[in-house]
Amino acid sequence: MTPPRIAIIGAGIGGLACGLALQEAGIPFTIYEQADALTEIGAAIALSANGSRELARFGCLPGLQAASCEPSELIWRGWRDQTRIAAHPVRKNGAYRAAYGAPYFGIHRAALQRVMRAQLQGDVIRLDHRLSELSETDQGIRLDFSRQDSALVDLVIGADGIKSRVRDHVAGSGAIRYSGTSAFRGIVPATCLPHLPDPQAIQFWMGRDAHLLHYAIGPEGGDVNYFAVTEGPADWPDMNRWVIEATRDDHLKPFKGWDKAVTEMIAQSHMFARWGLFVTKPLRHWHKGRAVLIGDGAHAMVPHHGQGANTSIEDAVTLARMIAHDGLSDTEGLLTRFAARRRLRTTAIQKSATATNEVLHLHDDADLQARARRLRHFPEEFGWIHDFDTRKAPLDQAGVARLRAR
Ligand SMILES: Cc1cc2nc3c(=O)[nH]c(=O)nc-3n(C[C@H](O)[C@H](O)[C@H](O)COP(=O)(O)OP(=O)(O)OC[C@H]3O[C@@H](n4cnc5c(N)ncnc54)[C@H](O)[C@@H]3O)c2cc1C
Repeated sequence: MTPPRIAIIGAGIGGLACGLALQEAGIPFTIYEQADALTEIGAAIALSANGSRELARFGCLPGLQAASCEPSELIWRGWRDQTRIAAHPVRKNGAYRAAYGAPYFGIHRAALQRVMRAQLQGDVIRLDHRLSELSETDQGIRLDFSRQDSALVDLVIGADGIKSRVRDHVAGSGAIRYSGTSAFRGIVPATCLPHLPDPQAIQFWMGRDAHLLHYAIGPEGGDVNYFAVTEGPADWPDMNRWVIEATRDDHLKPFKGWDKAVTEMIAQSHMFARWGLFVTKPLRHWHKGRAVLIGDGAHAMVPHHGQGANTSIEDAVTLARMIAHDGLSDTEGLLTRFAARRRLRTTAIQKSATATNEVLHLHDDADLQARARRLRHFPEEFGWIHDFDTRKAPLDQAGVARLRAR
């Protein structure tokens, strides 16, 4: 039997995971990536157990361990001082691995891509290939790239991120929405942060209409990656540009009067762009004909649970394993079942991440004690995100009911 011709668009986290999962199943594929190198400077990813357990199965664990840092604890603090509101051990006593069966890592995004790519065999990635057009033909789906070449395949997997070209083909344009919040990001050497308590922890500092999250990245946790989110602007100024210029003062203003650990971190940063946070609206369909979406293209979410990349990995593994199991003789049926299997969970995480924004941005006159009690029960509230294993039986009825109730 001739093997199916499969194209993956995008060598981001979902695309590389999809390649690894197809490779594991012995199914050939080609990944087309618009960039001419896989290096995104200045970005980091928190990999949780639901993603890292899959990467471990692909042989990535030694590479991940060498390139990343496991946070000591997960800690929440208020904006004005260093009191711990709630904390849970992560690396400490092996608590997170024991609870969820796989590690939690903070890693440079480019390092993660390097580790994943190193496990792919053969020359399977075509860089400098930006997909511009898709058209169904009797022989397959034709892909045209902006560098004037094309491919004819039986299935195209759109792992091309939040601005997905494949999604435009599947669902039309206009599927993304500004969340009403924006963020500043930075990476600062830990040695420049003398006021930071617990620099090896993943920590949220929470205050009125803003929060700052940080975690250590790199082999020794030598750099601290932070992500500072504020409410607004009410309308995003330019829907074609999601990153706009900002000054150091723009960056510091929402955090005026916050604990020195926070203001010192921001003051040490050299990255002053403002990132709009965008989400994908619920899509009626994740596929059309021979094209299907995974990852941000299907369900981009605000990053407050750190789950965009992790759920992209889950999608990729689920889809590849369904292709291996069912084949492509009934593409329509396969892709319908795939979306049905993934939609409930990813929608629940999307909604929960959006709701978390409010929890992190409470004003001082809100019921902060109730929030503290919730945060102290983090494993009971959010363990369902982390302990998920794509390879276990599809959600049982109790699991489905639990997700529906969210
Ligand atoms: C500030 C911030 C912090 C985040 N932190 C976390 C975190 O801690 N943990 C987490 O799990 N998630 C996090 N996320 C989300 C995460 O980065 C994304 O959800 C994840 O990368 C999505 O994976 P993806 O494969 O769908 O898309 P991406 O990883 O974005 O990859 C898409 C790829 O497709 C390529 N591409 C795009 N268009 C084309 C085209 N037309 N032709 C060819 N190639 C194309 C792109 O160049 C890119 O390489 C964060 C996001 C942001 C903005």
